[in-house]
Amino acid sequence: MPLASLKEVLGQALRRGYGVPSLLAGNLEMVIGQVMAAEEKASPLILAYNRGVTPKIPMELGIPLIVNAATRAGVPVVTILDHGQNLEEVVKAIHLGTSSVMFDGSNLSFEENVRQTREIVRVAHSVGVSVEAELGSVGSPEAASVESNAERSFTDPDAAAEFVERTGVDALAVSFGNVHGLYRGEPCLDLERVRRIHALVDVPLVMHGASGLDEGAYAGIVGSGISKVCYYTAMGMGACRDLRELMADGGQNVTVYHHIISWALDYFYAETKRLLDLLGCSGMAR
Ligand SMILES: [Zn+2]
Repeated sequence: MPLASLKEVLGQALRRGYGVPSLLAGNLEMVIGQVMAAEEKASPLILAYNRGVTPKIPMELGIPLIVNAATRAGVPVVTILDHGQNLEEVVKAIHLGTSSVMFDGSNLSFEENVRQTREIVRVAHSVGVSVEAELGSVGSPEAASVESNAERSFTDPDAAAEFVERTGVDALAVSFGNVHGLYRGEPCLDLERVRRIHALVDVPLVMHGASGLDEGAYAGIVGSGISKVCYYTAMGMGACRDLRELMADGGQNVTVYHHIISWALDYFYAETKRLLDLLGCSGMAR
């Protein structure tokens, strides 16, 4: 299939009320397992390249890998540069063939975030590439443990409406108690805030930091207006936990490295299928 567009895939998710997972696709077995799962479940999917998480995998290899896998898939698959830091990085990712980019200006002032995001939207849209931006700051577990700090970084609904209007972004990542990595203690998500933003903003909303929640939480998150769910840490940690179990008998069945590759592919396939069901995404590419 041709590379899918973030704007179109999330537009449909928003209209029909389901979430699409954005999965970190750091290596070949992750990518193959994830795409096979989406095909099996007849689901759209987003594959993400994140230089911060896999700094030893150069963008020149990481982006063409996911673009190639996406165009070979039998279901709509979007590729995205996750947490792009500046225009140069975004242009490089576009040149390598991605269909969408995320620009993370969340650590900038509101006006500077608007200015830089606008410029990136202008460049990306001129070649048909969709743009996700972030307003408010999705923290780390450390930041979230200090409640007052976390609340200061939550996305303000009125500011979100102004930001989308002035920048022309195709999707907006919002902060409402969500954190990257694992949650410390009980997650406290302000879904009422998401509903208020959703009512004021006409582009799909994005949740970063969706790992480690109860299975029942995802329906409520999607129901409050989130269309794209970025998910990695729980999957990455689950893979390590299961691998430790597999090796517990002294690794009788894992004697050469390609046994691990094959096992990992099966793991990412199974976990992605589970997540597609949780987000209500299964069957939506039929
Ligand atoms: Zn993120």
